[in-house]
Amino acid sequence: MNTEVFAARHIGIAEKDLPKMFETIGVENMEQLIYETIPDDITLKKALALPEGISEHEFLNHIQELSLKNKVFKTYIGLGYHESLTPSVIKRNILENPGWYTAYTPYQAEIAQGRLEALLNFQTMVSDLTGMEIANASLLDESTAAAEAMTMLFELRSRQQKKDNTLKFFVSEEILPQTLSLLKTRAVPLGIELVIGNHETFDFSEDFYGALLQYPGKFGQVYDYAGFAQKAKANEIKVAVAADILSLVLLTPPGEWGVDVVVGTTQRFGIPLGYGGPHAAFFATKEDYKRSIPGRIIGVTKDTDGNPALRMALQTREQHIKRDKATSNICTAQVLLAVMAGMYAVYHGPKGLKYIADKVHNQTKQLAKSLESIGFEPLNAAYFDTIKVAVKNSKRLREVAESKNINLNYVDANTVSISLNEAVSNEDLKTLISCFVESDDVKNHSAKNVEVGEVIPTALQRKTPFLEHEVFNSYHSETELMRYIKKLERKDLALNHSMISLGSCTMKLNAASEMLPLSWAHWGNIHPFVPLNQAEGYQEMLKTLEQQLNVITGFAATSLQPNSGAQGEYAGLMVIRAYHESRGEGHRNICLIPASAHGTNPASAVMAGMKVVVTKTDERGNIDIDDLEEKAKQHSENLAALMVTYPSTHGVFESSIKQITQLIHDNGGQVYMDGANMNAQVGLTNPATIGADVCHLNLHKTFSIPHGGGGPGVGPICVAEQLKPFLPTNPVVETGGDRAIDAISAAPWGSALVCLISYGYIKMLGYEGLTNATKAAILNANYIKDRLKGKFDVLYAGERGRAAHEMIIDCRPFKANGIEVTDIAKRLIDYGFHAPTVSFPVAGTLMIEPTESESLAELDKFCDALLSIRKEIDEASADDPNNVLKNAPHTLEMVTSDVWDYPYSRQKAAFPLPYVTENKFWPAIRRTDEAFGDRNLICTCAPIEAYAEA
Ligand SMILES: *Cc1c(COP(=O)(O)O)cnc(C)c1O
Repeated sequence: MNTEVFAARHIGIAEKDLPKMFETIGVENMEQLIYETIPDDITLKKALALPEGISEHEFLNHIQELSLKNKVFKTYIGLGYHESLTPSVIKRNILENPGWYTAYTPYQAEIAQGRLEALLNFQTMVSDLTGMEIANASLLDESTAAAEAMTMLFELRSRQQKKDNTLKFFVSEEILPQTLSLLKTRAVPLGIELVIGNHETFDFSEDFYGALLQYPGKFGQVYDYAGFAQKAKANEIKVAVAADILSLVLLTPPGEWGVDVVVGTTQRFGIPLGYGGPHAAFFATKEDYKRSIPGRIIGVTKDTDGNPALRMALQTREQHIKRDKATSNICTAQVLLAVMAGMYAVYHGPKGLKYIADKVHNQTKQLAKSLESIGFEPLNAAYFDTIKVAVKNSKRLREVAESKNINLNYVDANTVSISLNEAVSNEDLKTLISCFVESDDVKNHSAKNVEVGEVIPTALQRKTPFLEHEVFNSYHSETELMRYIKKLERKDLALNHSMISLGSCTMKLNAASEMLPLSWAHWGNIHPFVPLNQAEGYQEMLKTLEQQLNVITGFAATSLQPNSGAQGEYAGLMVIRAYHESRGEGHRNICLIPASAHGTNPASAVMAGMKVVVTKTDERGNIDIDDLEEKAKQHSENLAALMVTYPSTHGVFESSIKQITQLIHDNGGQVYMDGANMNAQVGLTNPATIGADVCHLNLHKTFSIPHGGGGPGVGPICVAEQLKPFLPTNPVVETGGDRAIDAISAAPWGSALVCLISYGYIKMLGYEGLTNATKAAILNANYIKDRLKGKFDVLYAGERGRAAHEMIIDCRPFKANGIEVTDIAKRLIDYGFHAPTVSFPVAGTLMIEPTESESLAELDKFCDALLSIRKEIDEASADDPNNVLKNAPHTLEMVTSDVWDYPYSRQKAAFPLPYVTENKFWPAIRRTDEAFGDRNLICTCAPIEAYAEA
């Protein structure tokens, strides 16, 4: 074996396995299988125009060299991003640990209690620091969270006394520039009118439905918004505040003014800057609005035995599942980063956070007074960590600062702002001050160490305690935190235990060599708004990745800005919208979406201001062409787009796809391809070939970014030539096309840091490895399909009987024996497996996607498990629910209990097949009680009194 070929490490099946697999599915060779799977008219005839793959060793050398083209300056730019110190114990045991980063969104609560607890900690931390009642478990970035606040409050208008035509939303001029840009993007399609101004002169009598403030302001000024909040309330104007999380340790939390929403980022709680992301944003609000909150909320409930259990609360109301009734499309969030930020608070505790906030604040005061003593006028009266200073010539200052590897925020010719952070040393402060001295010909060089009084007004000094819960006051030594992290990790089933065959989610290998560079300072410690010449390594990597994706999709250009697939959908539709408008066809607003589409599709369309028209699927699971044609023609005057997933969410390469895309073009629409299933296409066909105009890719599915327990994600959009001018920009660092739409994400290149993973994936596999990976994914799926033949019905297949890279098995017939699809999902846990996707896109089914990374041995174990469960289904009876499926999953506590009241053996319960014995995974709890938790919604850790009572 050639140990330098990465493909052989990434692809799970070996050469020697092929004959057996071909025999099982009844083909001679791979070529025959692919021929029978992919329609002729869309099969690529040429190899991908990408270089050959390189070895892991070569890649690591290359990526290190490239990293040195990034210059790590001391950066005091602020604007929502701050250098932070990731505690090594968190870096090593979470960020670099596949037990955490390869997990999926906690849909199967019984095997996800660890990250659910970590997320509950995050929510508790956010609720406490903001002073709000309830918080979600992360959004994509601060600016997106602010936009979600704007739209949630918009939807809530109907509850106000005001008339429905209240469309005005006030935005303080203190808001961060990237947030303002994103608000513009999101406001337009909904008809929201943004009014930007000074909150001190805001006229409350006007007909506004809501307002957004920044706390502290973008250049550091700390305002007292209590009066504003009061007047707003009296005038039925809802108030959202974008707040700096560290400042809330010292400042009065906005919750105490009675505001409605508080949003922000938790980046500075131990998350690397990463040239813009990924970082977890937060969204905290009042209990009253719990049913309108975007994103996921973790809640407390109980399991079958009445023991405490965690799960995603109000799960059936998850925004994207509301389809065209949704007000937000958030699906993938920033779970891994939220886990890390929450753990930062666990490690430091309230006293540690206070220490850090005090240190940053005191250094800022010191800086302000030192600069004042040498003649620089401070422009902020009250501040936390950021000061604005008047200078004679900011250009000259910049030259000096850059010569000393320092970045400041140059506001204009005579003003700069400086934001400090926990990584600033006293030595750094001296160097910083010396820049001012040198730039301005100051005669008195010795800045004095003056006594500094209080600069936060008494009314704004935080008086309420925070993080009094046990979890934030227990794990302050490294040993203790290491063990706490391990304790949680052990409760979670991730890819480092077994295959996770979640259809549509593509849980493939996240290779260690792809992940390693994420830990390096030359990638991690780069602020998104540094001058381009300090980020040449990033620029080269990102440009190459864009080109790689252009080649793979067949398109002309790529934007890496969207932070998730759903944001990509939204971005793509906004680009289509801008294209129609540019041609004087701005009235085109109908979006056709097949009934089988993922819920984010209609949600994104509604957010983009489009009207969703659902088209039918035929009995074979394909788009019903007659129905599509009828609707395309009926709406041809106003047709904006078709959204189509390919291969379909039914796991089939529909052979009429070109006819479908042509039909849309003939009626004036553009074709949006949802690229979640791109893993079945790479190297064999592509979106341009099927006739699409734009697609998003989920780099966290097809291109190896780990799911992180529900994020990070990257959802770039790739577009055909005519859409290229409209790719999104950023207000601070220009990106995108020459007629760019406003920002989709806060950072110019979205979550740039994790783009390294996809870049490495493509680079190491090369054109041949990429294509072989696709073939292996298709082979694995068809192998499972044929092994389950006769025992489970596969719902759909292509014209020649083949599945694409995933398939749906029908579990509805088992209702006759009283068995629901959930019972099968939970029973799989006893066999050491995470369930496939449950009830999407068809209720009562499982969708299985093995990916190319699994070995034949693992595929066989999984099939053995399902076939064994099939026998158990036969043994079950609708009259008696006391069976091994209904009682699943079985915990260690159950099977070792002195009482055993079940009509089957303990061995059958816990060790149903021989392979289970040697690698048993014990679920931490029994089945969760969903209804109980939703009736008694608790979304924070128990208060300290609860422990006192117990
Ligand atoms: C995963 C998925 C999405 C949404 O992607 P996110 O990154 O979770 O926002 C959209 N469509 C399909 C078919 C998907 O499988």
